[in-house]
Amino acid sequence: MGCGTGKVLPSQNGNENEEKSKRDVSVLQSLVAFAMERDHHEESKKNVSGFFSTKSRRVPAGQTSFRFEKQQEKSGDTYKDKFDARVSSRYRIKALIGRGSFSRVVRAEHRTSRRPFAIKLMEVETPQAREVCAAELAVLRRVHHANVVRLVEVFQCPRRVYVVLELATGGDLLDRVLSRGHYTERDAAQALRMVLAGVGYLHSLAITHRDLKPENLLYYHPGVDSRLLVTDFGLATFGGAETSGRNPSAQSGDINGTSSTWSLRTTCGTPEYMAPELVLRKPYSCAVDMWAVGVIAYIILSGAVPFEDDTQTQLYRSILRGKYGFRGNPWPSVSNPAKDFIRALLESDPGRRLRAEQASRHPWILTAAAGSSARNLHRSISRNLRHRASRNSSRCHSRTTNSAADVRSIAERPAGTLAW
Ligand code: ADP
Ligand code: MG
Repeated sequence: MGCGTGKVLPSQNGNENEEKSKRDVSVLQSLVAFAMERDHHEESKKNVSGFFSTKSRRVPAGQTSFRFEKQQEKSGDTYKDKFDARVSSRYRIKALIGRGSFSRVVRAEHRTSRRPFAIKLMEVETPQAREVCAAELAVLRRVHHANVVRLVEVFQCPRRVYVVLELATGGDLLDRVLSRGHYTERDAAQALRMVLAGVGYLHSLAITHRDLKPENLLYYHPGVDSRLLVTDFGLATFGGAETSGRNPSAQSGDINGTSSTWSLRTTCGTPEYMAPELVLRKPYSCAVDMWAVGVIAYIILSGAVPFEDDTQTQLYRSILRGKYGFRGNPWPSVSNPAKDFIRALLESDPGRRLRAEQASRHPWILTAAAGSSARNLHRSISRNLRHRASRNSSRCHSRTTNSAADVRSIAERPAGTLAW
């Protein structure tokens, strides 16, 4: 979220050369994120929740296919050229609905059944992109749960991989918060119950997501009873049991591999959602996902983030200090059990942090805040989201000039450095 805090892709702690090249990619990645943020400034101004998006972007409905086609025209490519004949013979490609670092996501219709799907087109020319794709496929091939996006089929080509997924049409978690005129703790608890069901299932398979955030939590349909889906497994990894360490079955970035070379020592994720142990580059476990759930809970109950700062370095410092508050609106209207839930997840010691199944049995989640405040928090939440949006917007502009130095100063710190 915010302009200076693009997703951090993995960088190993072990091999120094490998580390350096991955840091370089990380720096590049962050610079791309800054540039994208600038490009999308006007678009994002209209879309408050877009400011919580760093790496991946939703494309506003209506402009989507037009913009995509325009881009194709510009590059001399035709719209269909992006899709292998095997894909376009089975699916009618409709519109661009999202984009990430290595991917474009389109809405498509199965030609025979006419059912809608999402197709994630992943460019896999670089080793890093292959690794992201391998991680994503390894997880998607394994999972089957109502709160985890479902894989339909995969088409592999030398330079591109097409991942056909169930289509989520209900927008992401923050879209839902904003689009409703009324939002209570009960709504937040209901959403978090589904997130915890999905995350608990992943952890039971020893899968750590490592990039949980509102943009990666999509509603299956726009209705109030929609399932919420955990998506985007590009940073996910196997081996997230409580005792962590290097994944023993690590393989190279083979797209068909069942595991990734990234271990649970790898620093990656989206900075605002990173647990202290990740920031410290310590070996970690699936508890990092639970910290991210705590950040998400804080955001959907307030429209603000628990940890933020003007630079990434300062942001990491405040995560390590673990100091956050429940100051300003709407916190006085939020119940103590809800705050207790957040505290139990934003616990600096991963050993004491709630695990997914414990969190789903927390009194606040269990009672769906029935006994607590049913006050409408919508006005304060959307005001806070807008405030953040304009703050980030001006920060993006002032930071594009010195962002390289800023990001590099973080990337060049030796692994294991405690103070950011
Ligand atoms: P990345 O790894 O590049 O962030 P994501 O998987 O998050 O890629 O996809 C980028 C964007 O595409 C998402 O933020 C979302 O808006 C959209 N998207 C991804 N998967 C789906 C899906 N199954 N249904 C609808 N939209 C999707
Ligand atoms: Mg994403």
